[in-house]
Amino acid sequence: MTMWIARTKAELQTRLDTASRPVILVPTMGALHPGHSALINLARHHAGPDGTVLVSIFVNPIQFDKSADLDNYPRTEDADFEICQSHDADGIFLPEPSEMYFNDRSTTVSENLLSRLLCGAARTGHFDGVCTVVLKLFHLTRCDAAVFGEKDFQQLAIIQRMVRDLDLPVRIIPHPTVREPDGLAMSSRNRRLSSEQRADAPRILQALLAAAEKTSPPDILTSAREMIEASPLTKIDYLSLVDAETLQTTQHLSRPSILAAAVFYGDVRLIDHVRIAALS
Ligand code: AMP
Repeated sequence: MTMWIARTKAELQTRLDTASRPVILVPTMGALHPGHSALINLARHHAGPDGTVLVSIFVNPIQFDKSADLDNYPRTEDADFEICQSHDADGIFLPEPSEMYFNDRSTTVSENLLSRLLCGAARTGHFDGVCTVVLKLFHLTRCDAAVFGEKDFQQLAIIQRMVRDLDLPVRIIPHPTVREPDGLAMSSRNRRLSSEQRADAPRILQALLAAAEKTSPPDILTSAREMIEASPLTKIDYLSLVDAETLQTTQHLSRPSILAAAVFYGDVRLIDHVRIAALS
């Protein structure tokens, strides 16, 4: 069947009136890559051959704290359509910001605990923007389930918390991080790296994996920092060891934890993380 594209909320509602259930949503900001394709495939798996796989493509302005970052975000609409079509999506929702937000909008969804750290610490309002748009997309698409990548594990945890706290009737389906052959987590931002930066970037995962072999939190953090900073191309935004459930900074390894990093290459900010099992 040919894939449909809805650019307005009204068009989307018309399409959904005849869509068969379950409806599985894959929310994205476009510039799709094989990581997104894997999420679309997983959505199809859960939708079954007759259910509806819907991809939303929306570069959400209210989750960017720097307008340059918003302006520089890659936009590759035609290539995105092809990827969605070739991965058997049924429809795409591709609204303009003016379709999603009233100029005088005054309602925001805030998660106030998990949002404060890591990617939320330096980027004020980022996760409010994420929660607000995701809640709107859940309502607009009337989805039964939505697929999110573990690459953005903090975002995933916050969405799960929002769904729990607000009793949203949407099942959250996680997908593991999809990586390039050299280990770099796939990201729409990778295409903005110079060839020298791109060649260096796998060091983030290598540093996290090597550090995860250490047995004390200070050693873990020092080891990861040294390996990342050994490159003159990197600038660490944050490097944190957090409890895998609460996402709060942890000083011991008696519970499962996550070693997470955000690293700048020039103005391109990359994130990655590894899980560390509890020491018995
Ligand atoms: P984005 O378009 O970057 O906002 O991402 C849309 C969705 O794709 C989010 O749920 C991301 O976590 C997920 N995603 C992006 N890159 C990857 C990746 N390399 N592996 C798994 N999921 C990803």
